[in-house]
Amino acid sequence: MQVQPKVKLIRHTADPEATVALAAKLCYSDRELDDLTDNIMASDNGAFIDRLMDMGHHSPTEHASFTFSIEGVSRALLAQITRHRVASFSVRSQRYVSEDSFNYVIPPAIEELGAAAVARYKGQMDTIMDWYRDWQSALGRGEKSNEDARFILPNACETKMIVTMNARELMHFFSLRCCNRAQWEIRNVAWMMMKEVAKVAPNLFRDCGPGCLNGNCPEGKKSCGKAKEVKARKEEIFKK
Ligand SMILES: Cc1cc2nc3c(=O)[nH]c(=O)nc-3n(C[C@H](O)[C@H](O)[C@H](O)COP(=O)(O)OP(=O)(O)OC[C@H]3O[C@@H](n4cnc5c(N)ncnc54)[C@H](O)[C@@H]3O)c2cc1C
Repeated sequence: MQVQPKVKLIRHTADPEATVALAAKLCYSDRELDDLTDNIMASDNGAFIDRLMDMGHHSPTEHASFTFSIEGVSRALLAQITRHRVASFSVRSQRYVSEDSFNYVIPPAIEELGAAAVARYKGQMDTIMDWYRDWQSALGRGEKSNEDARFILPNACETKMIVTMNARELMHFFSLRCCNRAQWEIRNVAWMMMKEVAKVAPNLFRDCGPGCLNGNCPEGKKSCGKAKEVKARKEEIFKK
């Protein structure tokens, strides 16, 4: 069955912006920590967070972490997102969970070719499913057979994961993966993740996104030339 991406922010550091503000203010304050904590938790930290970002003092943002559930995405996406080494991942296993009725992602470019192309693609997925089941039976079913039958599975195969990133890593992730030069699937997921964190820490993430939003595009000659559209997409997410 075809699946669509689903991204949810399932947990995050309580008061993420206040936590970052506390970590940063501590560096410059001679007050007792309890006193500083009470003061910061009762304040609006927006302006302070803005100044912190402008100063480039980014290490306090590592104290706020965000956990997402991500499903309806392909194993091709998994290969890319797990390159982000500072993040933490738990991924549905293809050893413990049988893929005998696997779901799959259809690339939009194939959908744009029309119904016949989609039917052809789905037929190919069904064929691979048959091959997989064939190997499962040949190898004796269960964990041991899943382990080897999976070698026949496509990159399109759906996976599910829990991903945790701290705010600093998320900003880095958004700078690379919200860029139009990033591959479409991980780019969609990155924008969905940005939408989630904007709801709970808008000041912290106000400057996040691809390089073109904060100056010249770092892609040079390979630039998509669509900085205006990217800016509008970001503004839509952060509008109050
Ligand atoms: C458009 C695009 C195309 C890509 N194409 C390819 C490709 O063709 N082939 C390919 O292999 N990859 C490709 N990648 C993946 C890319 O090379 C990175 O592996 C991926 O984006 C993770 O980036 P990162 O290492 O900066 O992030 P993270 O692993 O999340 O690390 C964050 C930061 O921490 C620091 N860091 C982390 N680990 C170390 C370390 N061991 N030593 C020193 N500093 C460290 C670095 O400053 C790093 O930027 C592509 C990525 C993008 C966005």
